[in-house]
Amino acid sequence: MQVASSEVVRDINRRVVLNLIRTKQPISRADLARVSGLQRSTISLIVEELIQEHWVLEGATGRLPRGRRPTFLHLNNDRVIIGVDIRPVQTTVALADVNGRFTSQEIMATPPDPKAAVSELIGRIQRLLNSCGKKKVEGVGISLPGRVERGSERLVFAPNLKWTEFDIRGPIEKATGLDVELENAANACVLAAVWFDHVQSRNLVVVTVSEGIGTGILVNGQLARGLSGMAGEFGHVPLDPKGPLCSCGSRGCWEVFASNRAALRYYLESSDSSGGLNFQDLIRLAEQGDSRAAEALETMAHYLGRGMRMIVAGLDPELIIVIGDLTRSWHRFGPVIQAEVQDQVLPGGVVPRLVPVHEDGLARLRGTVALVLQKHFGTGSEVLA
Ligand SMILES: [Zn+2]
Repeated sequence: MQVASSEVVRDINRRVVLNLIRTKQPISRADLARVSGLQRSTISLIVEELIQEHWVLEGATGRLPRGRRPTFLHLNNDRVIIGVDIRPVQTTVALADVNGRFTSQEIMATPPDPKAAVSELIGRIQRLLNSCGKKKVEGVGISLPGRVERGSERLVFAPNLKWTEFDIRGPIEKATGLDVELENAANACVLAAVWFDHVQSRNLVVVTVSEGIGTGILVNGQLARGLSGMAGEFGHVPLDPKGPLCSCGSRGCWEVFASNRAALRYYLESSDSSGGLNFQDLIRLAEQGDSRAAEALETMAHYLGRGMRMIVAGLDPELIIVIGDLTRSWHRFGPVIQAEVQDQVLPGGVVPRLVPVHEDGLARLRGTVALVLQKHFGTGSEVLA
């Protein structure tokens, strides 16, 4: 049996208090003691330390019928985080405060060469750093359309980005002096849902649908990463080994049938359009009454639902959060996906709630903020709500 040392206990208590201030701010010391169950003296010590380290500020004074007036505590917004969302086509670099509010955001085209991309990122991060003045930059969080190997933290699997195995973290840390955290985009969306949207479920799956399909899995309140960091690649499970070639090298993967690209392919196959369309164009055409566009989207929706059966049968989640441009047209997608999933729920199984999130890339970016802050706020591998 292992007994926790006093430092470990102090560290856990500190994280609990910091996280309570984050989720319940503004909050008084007395309420912190009441909610946490910790002694008033312990709370006072921890709060003093957090104020000295500039994590927490004292704000307004409350009013009580009698006795001392409590001072409310809140997080210090002068602690900031740089968030980077790398996507196959474009990359966003943004600055956020500890509460996940973005104060600046810029978009660049994603260079096809990872070396060029990293050097452009370094330039932009350094410019942001220079603009921060007295604010303290906590670190850089990066969301990637791929998987990062545990341990080495090298990008090892990013078929839609087409970057080969590459160290993104090392050069950025060296050039900026900041800590860099990398995470798969769908996992980043899980963190955003739990941290900033306060989704209470401990068993959920995020499905991101864009050029490919990503999934992030929360099981019993923990992010499932697997042995090598590859957990969640449902998008590359082949549904039809004779199907179209996938960017991963296999044939007939789920994402070949159910991604935005798949819908565009269905449309081009059924019409005499010469191409040059993007997914938003396709949604617009469907809304304008183009029946072939509507059919292409419907086919994509059927395949999305069929693929989600794997997730439902394998993980039994309470909810499935769907993120991507398709949520703008949820009246088309939602009912088809729901029916496909419902059709296949096993006896004794529960149909998960299907939740579309309209986000315009915000979930990934907020996830990068949570990723950086997790070190200070989390209690180990558990994702805190
Ligand atoms: Zn594949």
